[in-house]
Order: sequence, then structure tokens, then C-alpha cells
Amino acid sequence: MSATTHRYRAYIALGSNQGVSAEALNGALTELDALAETQVQKVSPWYRSAAIGGPANQPDFLNAVCEIATGLEPQPLLQALHRIEHHFGRERQVRWGPRTLDLDIVWYEGVTSTAPELTLPHPRAHERAFVVRPLMDIAPDLTLHGETISHWLKQTENQSISRR
Ligand code: ADP
Ligand code: MG
Repeated sequence: MSATTHRYRAYIALGSNQGVSAEALNGALTELDALAETQVQKVSPWYRSAAIGGPANQPDFLNAVCEIATGLEPQPLLQALHRIEHHFGRERQVRWGPRTLDLDIVWYEGVTSTAPELTLPHPRAHERAFVVRPLMDIAPDLTLHGETISHWLKQTENQSISRR
């Protein structure tokens, strides 16, 4: 008889604006699903969004969010996300600059943290249409910082985003 590990629900935001973004997103989803004790449960439609912050004239981003069920604690999960980012050649030279792959933990079941290296829920996700819009597709009942996803969607409706 094998031991069963409890699975926690978490939402991961995926973004890419350099290289072949569709390949990076698809590859990241495959690698997420291949992580120990982890399954990708839901994937949102893909969106195109204008870059926010960082250098001017960056290419648009391709964005999505996914729901996972995982036995990994938040910190090992973040380390796994960083390994996947590096696998796709992410360079961390410019803050908020172009990147082949950005993976953020938006929300992790039952966990809040104010640690700078891992803040949960993610400190800026609810202000970003490219996270909130796809969350509306796969997790409309989620709340972030005590407010519904539709609340945050309204707050971010001035940001340019389109279904890809
Ligand atoms: P951003 O995602 O804000 O554009 P980075 O991907 O370069 O920028 O992240 C910078 C740092 O943010 C990471 O090294 C990570 O330790 C930290 N961080 C804090 N909270 C989170 C989170 N919830 N998900 C992902 N990274 C986080
Ligand atoms: Mg990130």
C-alpha cells in the first residue's frame, strides 16, 4: 500500500514576451505537470497584454494561469518554478524586463506570507489584468486580499488585454 500525500490547490501565473512564447508556456505546463506530486488541473485561455513597467517598447506578453494540485510546500514549489524558468533560458538582468518565461505563485491554499522571497498571495497579482482576467475563467470563486476576482477585474479594466 502506498502512502497518499495531501494535495494542495495553487494558482500559477505564466508569462512570456521573448522567444517563442507559445512554446515557453506549453513547455512550462508540461514541466509543471511532470513535477513530483503535482498535477496541472486547469489551464486558462491565453491572453495577450502590453508590458507594464520596465524598459519602454517591450514586446507584448503572452499570459495564462493554471490551477495545480501539489504535495510540494510553497518554498520547494517556488524553487521548482525557478528551475523551469531557467530551463527556458530566462535571464534576470533587467527588473520587469523582457523574459522568456515568468512563473509566479498567485495563491496557495491556506498559506499567507509576507516574506519578500515568497509573498502569498502574490503582492501584485490582483492589480494585473493579465492575471485577474484568466483567473476569472478558471477560478471565478477565488478571493484575493478579501475581494472577489470580479472586483479585481473591474479595478483593472483600464489595462489592455485581449484573448489570443
Ligand atoms: P516579477 O515576477 O515580480 O516580475 P521576478 O519573477 O524576477 O519578478 O521575481 C522576483 C522575486 O520575487 C523572485 O526571486 C521571488 O523570490 C519573489 N517572489 C515573492 N513572492 C513571489 C510569488 N508569490 N511568486 C513568485 N515569486 C515571488
Ligand atoms: Mg516572477
